[in-house]
Amino acid sequence: MKRAKILILGAGYGGLSTAVNLQKKLNANDADITLINKNDYHYESTWLHEAAAGTLSPEDVRYDIKSVLNGDRVQFVQAAVTGIDVNARKVTTDKGEHTYDYLVIGLGFEGETFGIEGLDKYALSIANVGAARQIREHIEYQFAMWSQDEVKDDSRLTIVVGGAGFTGIEFLGELGNRVPELCKEFDVPQEKVRVLCVEAAPMVLPGFDPELVDYAVRHLESKGIEFSIGTPVVQATPEGVKIKTGEESFDFVKAGTVVWAAGVRGNRLIETSGIENMRARVKVEKDMRAPGFPDVFIVGDCALMINEEVNRPYPPTAQIAMQQAETIAENLIALLKNEDTHAFVPQLKGSVCSLGEHDAIGDVMGRKITGTKASIMKKIIDNRALYMIGGAPLVMKKGKFNLL
Ligand code: FAD
Repeated sequence: MKRAKILILGAGYGGLSTAVNLQKKLNANDADITLINKNDYHYESTWLHEAAAGTLSPEDVRYDIKSVLNGDRVQFVQAAVTGIDVNARKVTTDKGEHTYDYLVIGLGFEGETFGIEGLDKYALSIANVGAARQIREHIEYQFAMWSQDEVKDDSRLTIVVGGAGFTGIEFLGELGNRVPELCKEFDVPQEKVRVLCVEAAPMVLPGFDPELVDYAVRHLESKGIEFSIGTPVVQATPEGVKIKTGEESFDFVKAGTVVWAAGVRGNRLIETSGIENMRARVKVEKDMRAPGFPDVFIVGDCALMINEEVNRPYPPTAQIAMQQAETIAENLIALLKNEDTHAFVPQLKGSVCSLGEHDAIGDVMGRKITGTKASIMKKIIDNRALYMIGGAPLVMKKGKFNLL
């Protein structure tokens, strides 16, 4: 077996799982494996809505990357990647340059604002731990200011969430629990608070079973959350958002907080890497390699794969990112042994969307579940993701056990 240099960018679900799979399957002398990540911690992106709402501390959603790596097999470098050049086989970071024989790009997602005026500047996005902390602190600041102001501006207490997809709905579920706590903490009458979800599409949670969607909407409405569906946000300003409510009619919603959760794209570094891409996502070959670059693999949200059954891309999920990582590790080992690579075949087990701490909806292995059952299933899925990367010790340290 040839001793090759494998460089992995990003320690999210995709990148970190690739590293962990390789360290399990390769000996120390088989390859030089380097993992580069901007922070020295991994965060559970699928828990960020909880940190953003303030129902979970930012500390709880992250863990030390080195704690799950075997230092003899994988070298960890904390650095921010600043450029990728696949033609020159070179990666630049704020701490220096790296070359590679094989590259795995797993730099994750960024919020997509679809060019809507002002969103980049005035809306917050649940993109990483720092951004989640910023949203939490921003909402708390608005409540604190309302309490202190002599002339009360109730719009401080309006939270607009753009997007009724998975992230938007999960965030609203947490807000449903968090708002009563905030009201108590900051002496705010709850009827002054307005939480409004604005969605451009004519439906909530596209792709979910209509009965489950109905359950989710009723549950959130029972917590006082309002929905404005089929009404695109057309502009964000420092005061709030402008919404298109009809052919020629618009509404302006004054809001102290606007959180944009209506779409993701791949990491912008893909766009200047030399690899063909669509909104920073690479339509990968069947074995997860970048077209035209047999030494480059793409994992997670930077990869685009078409589900041929429905002729649409698979949604970017942690579930798929971790499965891709397993295939990529196997294919890297195959290449080191001069063997053939194999195709990635997603094993879709369904999905569960949380609606706050003890409620959820799910479609798991073809079975529809709601309420406590679905919420317990969600926590089992969360704990399983920890187990796959860090085994039982990580589950004991970071797992979710407040099942009821
Ligand atoms: P990420 O997990 O985003 O990791 C990317 C890594 O790259 C990060 O560590 C980041 O710090 C690092 N990085 C980025 N830029 C640089 C740089 N320039 N230099 C160095 N390092 C860098 N999916 C599900 O399957 N189930 C769910 O229930 C679910 N819920 C979600 C809830 C929320 C609120 C959100 C936001 C997403 C959710 N998802 C869910 C989607 C899931 O989180 C993503 O699909 C998944 O995180 C993609 O994994 P990844 O490895 O591609 O990227």
